[in-house]
Amino acid sequence: MAELNEKDFPPLFGTNGIRGVPNDDLTVEFSQAIGKSIGTFFGSKIAMGRDTRDTGQMIFDSVCSGILSSGCDLIDLGILPTPAIQYYCKINKMPGVIITASHNPPQFNGIKCIASDGTELERESERKIELIYYNKKYLTVNWDKIGRAFQDNNAPGMYVAGVMSKVDRDNIRSRNFKVVVDTGNGAAFSTTPTLLRELGCRVVTLNANPDGKFTSRNSEPRPENLTELISVMKLGKFDLGVAHDGDADRAVFVDEKGNFIDGDVTLSLIVKNHVKKGEKVVTPVSSSDALSEICKAKGAQLIRTRVGAPIVSRTMIKEKALLGGEENGGVIFGPHQYCRDGAMTLSLFLDLMASTGMKPSELIKTVPEFHMAKESVKRDKEWSVLEKDILKQLGDVALDRTDGLKIMLVNGWVLLRPSGTEPIIRIYGESRDEKTAKEIANDYKEMIEKLNRH
Ligand code: MG
Repeated sequence: MAELNEKDFPPLFGTNGIRGVPNDDLTVEFSQAIGKSIGTFFGSKIAMGRDTRDTGQMIFDSVCSGILSSGCDLIDLGILPTPAIQYYCKINKMPGVIITASHNPPQFNGIKCIASDGTELERESERKIELIYYNKKYLTVNWDKIGRAFQDNNAPGMYVAGVMSKVDRDNIRSRNFKVVVDTGNGAAFSTTPTLLRELGCRVVTLNANPDGKFTSRNSEPRPENLTELISVMKLGKFDLGVAHDGDADRAVFVDEKGNFIDGDVTLSLIVKNHVKKGEKVVTPVSSSDALSEICKAKGAQLIRTRVGAPIVSRTMIKEKALLGGEENGGVIFGPHQYCRDGAMTLSLFLDLMASTGMKPSELIKTVPEFHMAKESVKRDKEWSVLEKDILKQLGDVALDRTDGLKIMLVNGWVLLRPSGTEPIIRIYGESRDEKTAKEIANDYKEMIEKLNRH
């Protein structure tokens, strides 16, 4: 039979690894074959961990047996936040595999590969793994070469110490902050409360019981899912509220009065506090102009990329950038590691509170005010056709083509980009006032709806 080449198979890895429903599309047999392919590709010792999902053990064991059969040894890190596993890979210069579906609902799970520098594996390498899988070109070694699995219980402690070493620990400790943390039944149930205690905080935990069905709240840390944390913060007894997504690569904050803080504002504040003249910051085209204003005022360079955390990470490495991040609470701090890290984001926020002596509600007011409105609309035509139609309607306007179409307007901007996973167009409108932002997003939604019909 002729060997399949890269054009003949659909990609398995999406923007965040292979995602699926266990025993449906993510079966034991499939996971094991992927494990064999991963082991064959890496050919060396692999670190592996998972989030709290009930299906995690089954997928973990299936991938694990595939890896061992290809002759690779394995370090079993157990349940840990995604960034803690990435940190372990970076420190030990070892590739890794994470069984997680991040913030997705509990019926999903996923397989994600990590390069030996701790960053998400590049697409070209994922394609090589896919090619091994489709061609069944796995390495199956003799019985005496089959890999062995070891445990390493030092990973959580090493991670917490690594995060703390990047901030002014003594200054944070001297403040004795009172912090409420909602780990949402996810993977940071132990590491984040431990980190906070080590930083001298008085800690109240919410949903810090690992629960693979996420029965307490939806795993996505959006304001509508954080009503419990917000109501506890409204009691006015605590300095900061923080919540993670399921695999804790993200952290979002609630101020001391119970107001949710947008991810863009968090990133702007951290950039404002840490970036010095001449340093670089990386963010997608979808982030707020507040960040542009702050970087300009600080004499820092802001680099805009396509949307997606791995793209931001790779650009940061290339540009030797200090900070990067997105509006969903994923902050990347270069001196620590080039991936989103919820615990690092939390430590940087506490560092900011300690160094300025300001409360979160006061800090928010120091960020230039911008509002973003988001919409989505069904796409009935190919994006390339729709894009041409939109451009015809627009006439002569200033455009940014980094990702989709970003149109510069007199009172703000609008970004139209096709979703990578669904047949929809995502619309982001930003302006200095909320009403205009909503109007912008709505106008373009209506424009696309009309163009869909013609
Ligand atoms: Mg996540």
